[in-house]
Amino acid sequence: MKILSVNAGSSSLKFQLLQMPEEFEIASGLVERIGNKNAEFKINFNGSSSKQSDLVVLDHSVAVDLVIKGLLEHKIISSLDEIQGVGHRVVQGGETFKESVVIDDDVVLKIAALNDLAPLHNPANIIGINAFRKAIPNVLHVAVFDTTFHQTMPEVNFLYGTPYEWYEKHGVRKYGFHGTSHQYVSEEAQKRLGKEESKIIVAHIGNGASVTAVLNGKSIDTSMGLTPLEGFPMGTRSGNVDPSIFQLMQQKEGYSLEKTLNELNKKSGYLGISGVSHDSRDIVSAANEGNHRAKLALDIQAKRIVDYIASYYVLLGGLDALVFTAGIGENAKEVRSLVCKRLEVLGIIIDDEKNNSRGDKEIQHKDSKVKIWVIPTNEEVMIARDVLRLQNSN
Ligand code: ADP
Repeated sequence: MKILSVNAGSSSLKFQLLQMPEEFEIASGLVERIGNKNAEFKINFNGSSSKQSDLVVLDHSVAVDLVIKGLLEHKIISSLDEIQGVGHRVVQGGETFKESVVIDDDVVLKIAALNDLAPLHNPANIIGINAFRKAIPNVLHVAVFDTTFHQTMPEVNFLYGTPYEWYEKHGVRKYGFHGTSHQYVSEEAQKRLGKEESKIIVAHIGNGASVTAVLNGKSIDTSMGLTPLEGFPMGTRSGNVDPSIFQLMQQKEGYSLEKTLNELNKKSGYLGISGVSHDSRDIVSAANEGNHRAKLALDIQAKRIVDYIASYYVLLGGLDALVFTAGIGENAKEVRSLVCKRLEVLGIIIDDEKNNSRGDKEIQHKDSKVKIWVIPTNEEVMIARDVLRLQNSN
């Protein structure tokens, strides 16, 4: 059965068509710069790929049409009837959604009711859902939330030290994100450990990045919070800062609240510290060439990732496996090394030679008390698994 996994962002739409339950990727692709006249559409299938540039794609419904046309024109499917389910990534499920759900009009309204908690993400997710429901109306559409895996966090871990009424009235608490990735990777790690009772820390390090403590298969704490801005410095996000910065930047630079928030989301992290780039490849090569601020960006991030790992080590009462995943976690050996070197005091010891090799691998030193794995994430497969599960139970 063919299932489509969809990830609609504010200006992009990523998709993957999967053969399930085999979990085989039939095709994947993305439309970028939606809302512009120079949009791009890429589609990969059968080991080849095709790209169209300078397209006029003013909204997501045009992007959805492009995806469907692409699948038909390249004969990846012969008719839309072949797609038997669509899974949609939704960033914020709040406390409303404790698991993935079949989408109907009521579910869409409930997702929209959470827009205030995820103003940068949920509105785009809904536009994607609406466009695909219109284009492929007769199949099951399922919403898979970034937050549901973290709904098992106890309140002592998810509540802030803010007035309790803020939580009761407005849902001010930590939700956590990248849940599908943390779940996929920790399930895989649990399988490899060969035991249900397990203490795992997943470091999902991509442009967006978060660390999660997983006890016996359940998330008990995670570094992202009310929004994906919380945590450690990422590609362009600052991670935690003292909120008094808002007042200072208003007094010194006349920044509005929105302007400072935008700087913390889009101009900080690797980009802001280094002044070089948001991309880890540029940062690593600038650091290797002696650029002090690029090196500083890597060191600050590693230090702050380790703050989380060390605190989760204590929270879990020890550790069986530390797992790296996502663009940087899977590919940037320099970042893994900077993190692990700071963890030796806990008996978490990396093997430099193993760390140099590519792909899915085990990279701990023989003297390490903890397994260190690189496990590629697959959020699309996780989404398709949920579509299949809900299809079978409907
Ligand atoms: P997101 O999904 O949050 O946009 P990704 O998981 O795709 O992010 O990660 C993007 C990051 O991964 C970028 O900083 C990029 O430099 C890094 N990355 C991807 N491939 C490689 C590679 N081969 N070597 C080093 N870094 C890589």
